[in-house]
Amino acid sequence: MTASSAPIAENLSRIRAQMQQAAVSCGRNPNDIHLLAVSKTKPVSDILQAYENGQRHFGENYVQEGLEKIQALSQFSDIVWHYIGPLQSNKSKIIAENFDWMHSLDRIKIAKRLNDQRPSELAPLNVCIQINIDDESSKSGIQASETKDFLEQMREFSRLSCRGLMTIPSATKDINQQRASFERMQSLFVKCQEDFKQIYPDFDTLSMGMSADMALAIEYSSTMLRVGTGVFGSRT
Ligand SMILES: *Cc1c(COP(=O)(O)O)cnc(C)c1O
Repeated sequence: MTASSAPIAENLSRIRAQMQQAAVSCGRNPNDIHLLAVSKTKPVSDILQAYENGQRHFGENYVQEGLEKIQALSQFSDIVWHYIGPLQSNKSKIIAENFDWMHSLDRIKIAKRLNDQRPSELAPLNVCIQINIDDESSKSGIQASETKDFLEQMREFSRLSCRGLMTIPSATKDINQQRASFERMQSLFVKCQEDFKQIYPDFDTLSMGMSADMALAIEYSSTMLRVGTGVFGSRT
């Protein structure tokens, strides 16, 4: 093992233990909560370390960087690749052809392109709608109030599978504000699941929570934690 490999293994076991504990302490089944290891800016060798320690879901933020890693690791066919970054429409084809999930969908125009560009030999692309839950001008995502209409419009895209919602709440250390944002996401998610059960039977994903707020996100029904620094260490 190289000097840098041990921490990734240790980080993964620590995070899994924390997830387990957080789930149990709020009465949830730990199997309902998935870990997405966010490998942006990290080398392929780090992804391999995580893979050797059982990690299969990886998240990338930049189209070109993600593509290069997917190609470098193409022999590992059980890796599930998630795109979680902002997407310009001229890059949508790369996502449609190479990724398994897209978490940051917030424009119907992009949805249409992804739908048209998804190769027929691949399963439908799993998508989450990004919600700008704190209405920040700096953030991508649709407003919570637009969600129902957006999901209605998604019906025509048979090459996309509507899997759920994703959010990046405003950066704050104020626990009450964090709780309030997570709680709004939780109710929106539950409402969408109810309203669209017939149309989107696989709408089961709330992509919410990062290294700093994992346990709290689990308390508010997150089913997928996107953890970067917690797994791979700080990004320099
Ligand atoms: C970088 C990133 C993460 C991971 O953040 P950490 O604080 O390193 O865990 C999660 N989600 C998105 C959208 C990101 O860009």
